[in-house]
Amino acid sequence: MGLVSHLKEGLVDLLFPGPSTCPICGQDLYKGRDVPCPPCRRRVQRVVAPFCPRCGKPLTLGEYCPHCGGRGLPFLQARAAGLYQGVLRRAIHLFKFKGAMDLLPYLEQLLLDCLEKYPLPGVDVLIPVPLHAGRERERGFNQAALLAAGLGRHLQLPVDYRSLIRRWNTPPTSGLSRQERVETLWDAFSCRGRRLRGRHVLLIDDILTTGSTAAGCSTALLKGGAAGVYVLTVATVPAPAPWP
Ligand SMILES: [Zn+2]
Ligand SMILES: [Zn+2]
Repeated sequence: MGLVSHLKEGLVDLLFPGPSTCPICGQDLYKGRDVPCPPCRRRVQRVVAPFCPRCGKPLTLGEYCPHCGGRGLPFLQARAAGLYQGVLRRAIHLFKFKGAMDLLPYLEQLLLDCLEKYPLPGVDVLIPVPLHAGRERERGFNQAALLAAGLGRHLQLPVDYRSLIRRWNTPPTSGLSRQERVETLWDAFSCRGRRLRGRHVLLIDDILTTGSTAAGCSTALLKGGAAGVYVLTVATVPAPAPWP
């Protein structure tokens, strides 16, 4: 390769530092193109109406929600942009566990699209679901905090990283009974300070599974004086365990 081609290639890399293949499907991309690639984006299943107005899970059988119907939930409404499966599941996994930061703008866009289509009224402040300090050090970042930061910029809303804290690192909840899961998670969060008094909070996370984490955070935020809590996640697990 001649010097000129080397220089050209170097210049392209400098101008478009992004990846040259789609991290999801491995297809070649034009340099500078956003990821995931357009065909992968088209495979993402967005959550569209009808969905449960409380927990945000898609509804298939009429109005009654089998996930949360009849149970008291501490948050006002939860929304998710897409279903936790296929491309979106892989994208979240790469972002969260492999640190694939190229995917962050797309995940933020999903959150924005969701709020644009199904607005949540009167939000004053965004709060990411906190990781325990030890877990965050291990991972190097909190995925929910990165999502909240991007969303806050777009919506011009403040992001509060300090009021909600995770008091201990909860063990993985998948092997626990429903009761154990509730006890572990509902007590794991607390709220400090008085900054949230009378404010409506939008809690941000990557995934909503059973909703136990969102419920635990919401309970702590309400105890801390928040007037109401909404929840927004990139994805929701389509067929979760029943609500605790
Ligand atoms: Zn792709
Ligand atoms: Zn529901």
